[in-house]
Amino acid sequence: MKILLSNDDGYQAPGLRALHDAIADLAEVVVVAPEHNNSAKSNALTLHSPLYVHEAHNGFRYVNGTPADCVHIALTGLLDFRPDLVVSGINNGANMGDDTIYSGTVGAAMEGYLFGIPAIAFSQVEKGWAHIDAAAAKARELVQSVLAQGPAQLPHFLLNVNIPNRPLAQIGPFEVCRLGRRHAAEKVIAQPSPHGQTMYWIGGAGLPKDGADGTDFHATAQGRVSVTPLHVDLTDHRALPDWGQRIAGFTGAR
Ligand code: MN
Repeated sequence: MKILLSNDDGYQAPGLRALHDAIADLAEVVVVAPEHNNSAKSNALTLHSPLYVHEAHNGFRYVNGTPADCVHIALTGLLDFRPDLVVSGINNGANMGDDTIYSGTVGAAMEGYLFGIPAIAFSQVEKGWAHIDAAAAKARELVQSVLAQGPAQLPHFLLNVNIPNRPLAQIGPFEVCRLGRRHAAEKVIAQPSPHGQTMYWIGGAGLPKDGADGTDFHATAQGRVSVTPLHVDLTDHRALPDWGQRIAGFTGAR
């Protein structure tokens, strides 16, 4: 089995190293990750500047681009094989609820998924890496089970996994659950720059709005590992008939 491993925190991030070391004996693991922190870059691709791939002393390859760039390049010419699984993470911080839209960690996994390769995104819920080895051990458990079943034998999947930042003995079982929702993000932070202009910093993510039983917010708050199968289909299927009538009313079209 062959795994392509990436992340969004950059190739030097402790979460990437921990995850690599935890799964290195399960498969041939190749790392292609961003050179710098690319958190919140979602599925962005770099189209208007050249990308370069370098290799670090530990064999990790890094790219001056986004997480999706890394996986895209790996799958469309850099690697001379097709991985059985794309794994991303472990991210420094949660990717739950609406975070998944912005997440570069999920973006890297999603790029693999869009190329028809099953993929898993791992994040550690509270930032700081305090128990990154515990998170890596849980990630290993899931990767090992998926490899044992044969990723290609399973229905095509993209899993979003969030692991509480706790000692291993205090981490609960895996819980398959839906994404919760967050409140709108906090206010932008405005500061005067040294040159007297106003600098704006994007504010923090909002608090959970829907953290009900059965959501990722709820599972991780209880110390469990949330596992949410994602798909990529932005169509609001329920709204199709309604908008069909409405547009016909506007334009006379059918
Ligand atoms: Mn990140």
